[in-house]
Amino acid sequence: MLKKSEELEKTLRRIDGRGYKAYKDIQGSYGFPAHTLHIDHVQGDPFAAPSRVRIVLPERVAGFTPDLHDTPARNRALCDFLTRAADAACEEASRRAGSGKSGLISVDRPGQEVLERTSVNVTGAEVEARISVGLPATGRRVLGRQAALILLDQIPKIARASLIATNLDPERTRRHVEIVEDQSFLRDALGDAGLVAFVGDGAILPRKSGVDPRPMGEGAVAFRSPESLRREFDVPNAGRVTGMGIPAGVTLIVGGGYHGKSTLLSAIELGVYDHVPADGREFAVTVPDAVKIRAEDGRSVQGVDISPFITNLPFGTDTRDFSTADASGSTSQAANIAEALEYGTSLLLIDEDTSATNFMIRDHRMQELVAKDKEPITPFIDKVRQLYDERGVSTIIVVGGVGDYFDVADTVVMMDSYLPLDVTDRAKEIAAKYVAERVPEGGDSFGHVSARAPVPSSLDPSRGKRQEKVDAKGRGTILFGRTPLDLSAVEQIASVSQTRAIGDALVLMMKRFMDGRRTVAEILDLLEGELDRGGLDALSSRHLGTYARPRRQEIAAALNRLRTLRIEQQR
Ligand code: ADP
Ligand code: MG
Repeated sequence: MLKKSEELEKTLRRIDGRGYKAYKDIQGSYGFPAHTLHIDHVQGDPFAAPSRVRIVLPERVAGFTPDLHDTPARNRALCDFLTRAADAACEEASRRAGSGKSGLISVDRPGQEVLERTSVNVTGAEVEARISVGLPATGRRVLGRQAALILLDQIPKIARASLIATNLDPERTRRHVEIVEDQSFLRDALGDAGLVAFVGDGAILPRKSGVDPRPMGEGAVAFRSPESLRREFDVPNAGRVTGMGIPAGVTLIVGGGYHGKSTLLSAIELGVYDHVPADGREFAVTVPDAVKIRAEDGRSVQGVDISPFITNLPFGTDTRDFSTADASGSTSQAANIAEALEYGTSLLLIDEDTSATNFMIRDHRMQELVAKDKEPITPFIDKVRQLYDERGVSTIIVVGGVGDYFDVADTVVMMDSYLPLDVTDRAKEIAAKYVAERVPEGGDSFGHVSARAPVPSSLDPSRGKRQEKVDAKGRGTILFGRTPLDLSAVEQIASVSQTRAIGDALVLMMKRFMDGRRTVAEILDLLEGELDRGGLDALSSRHLGTYARPRRQEIAAALNRLRTLRIEQQR
């Protein structure tokens, strides 16, 4: 029921000076001449998580032409742009005034990636922004007049500044939308072009610092493709784009230490997402299902078939149904790959910096000293070709130290002072020059990939007792009921807003889709269908403005790392 705007004013006057709980009276929806204000959640006290409101402008007021939002990519881009505008406007309006979070006004803040979010939503009919507000108090008393100022004055002002087309720079709005559309187009075009990744000429790949993902300023060497790998695309808005195409198959990135190998791989990892204008990686795109693989000792593994890589563990441990609460470097890396094949990927990304050496290679001398039947591990070098030839899964590997990989590579790129050279022919010559001393250990075929059915009750955060919360504590941590879920090694989570969505997605999957028979892949298909149809609000009916869409790969990564997870059966 829509209440009159005057009613909000009246209520705020009435509760002024009363105990904080009196704020609950303002919950509800209010109609104003040019907008609607929904007060969805009122915080319990000034120190609690802030209250949540939504402000909705009808299309005729907002005035965004359909060409700015009439495809999924454009809509995502426009919503992202408006979120950034609203963030700036909130920043300006927000003043801590009173106790606790009094006076704070914010929207969810995006980073360098342009993700589907719930912070701002644009439909053909209206534009909505979801805003957090610290309802003001002195001590624990309602500051009614200040609240009126925020709800009746500042928030509408924020909405006018950031959600009305004519109040925004039309050039910047359009550019934001167009550049995202171009990136999505380019990513979609990779498959037909026989590529798994593309890095545009002129791209700036290095970042400001390990904790600042904005582009490096002075000193950054712009990307320049080697001629032999140069490809060109005509994208809808920017026209012709040239750059380095990485073909499907097995690709090595080699080069001396500190020459930019890991930086290139990081850009490829995050190329599954679109980037904001001036990020530097606008035309660094990767197939959308690419998965970064690394060693992650200490992680939990439940019922995964890691037998393609690991067999004959001491004490007869069955590696076709492998579980541990504390994986080693090599078993964790094997499990990460086995799981990725199970939930779905067409491209693995591996950096020697974060790999277990004994997982990557067993050299000729070690083969001679330690017989195959005494070594449980079949190194990745002996499986990487089978992955591509049998399963169509490509790999890009950063290797600085192991030339044996030349034997199994299709393409070899050398980073030299931050610039790529195509050294494929030279690497093949070198490989041909020496008789291969290593004995391949990979067997006739890659081997079996798990299809596991999770037990729904093992995902219940309350564990059968009272209601327990699922709470994202940061990009890399979810508190799942009482169980901490460590995602710090899941490197392609780009935002804590995705982490938040992942936590709630696990609960939704548990409640709606898991029945003890459906497999991980089937459950993820159902979840993705639900999110495609209902948007991220399918995760919660609370109109949260703080979700960003995670990929299925990261949702599965979280599921697989949940320490309470149990598997019903393994096919
Ligand atoms: P590698 O993995 O080859 O050892 P890194 O990718 O870690 O090298 O890069 C080493 C350093 O060089 C990092 O500090 C990185 O920020 C910087 N760097 C990488 N690429 C560039 C570039 N194109 N221009 C300038 N600096 C770069
Ligand atoms: Mg490195």
